Amino acid sequence: MTKKPMPEHEEEWNPEEEQSSLRGQGDAHDEKYWENKLTPEQYKVLREKGTEAPFMGQYVHEKADGTYACVACGNPLFSSDAKFDSGTGWPSFDQALPGAVETHADTSHGMTRTEITCARCGSHLGHIFDDGPTGPIGPSHRLGTGKRYCINSVCLDLEEK
Ligand SMILES: [Zn+2]
Repeated sequence: MTKKPMPEHEEEWNPEEEQSSLRGQGDAHDEKYWENKLTPEQYKVLREKGTEAPFMGQYVHEKADGTYACVACGNPLFSSDAKFDSGTGWPSFDQALPGAVETHADTSHGMTRTEITCARCGSHLGHIFDDGPTGPIGPSHRLGTGKRYCINSVCLDLEEK
């Protein structure tokens, strides 16, 4: 007896299957996967640790309520409640959602900085600095953490509430 595939599942993407066939360097996906999935601009920033031009990103002045997710894998990264206007030209947050990002020492370009990557897919997001707000921010007037998560717009996907 041959098992017929369930037609309603034929088109369904199976992340487990895909990951196991591409698993190798500790990354869930190889670079070919990302080249196909991302736009050239997204690929340059997320996978080659590039930086978008300041004041050009779509979320620099965004004020809508919602959750900013990783554009590469959909991992929820930042709440709009943590967003503040840093004047730097990049979307800035004073904290990430718990467990959403990882930090790494980055000594490229003659600077010592802390890089932020997506905890789920490892994509580059931006850098974290210690000059964030400590006064009340956001609709709840919560006190800022003093951190500034400086994130490229192109890495983010806002899911509005
Ligand atoms: Zn991700």
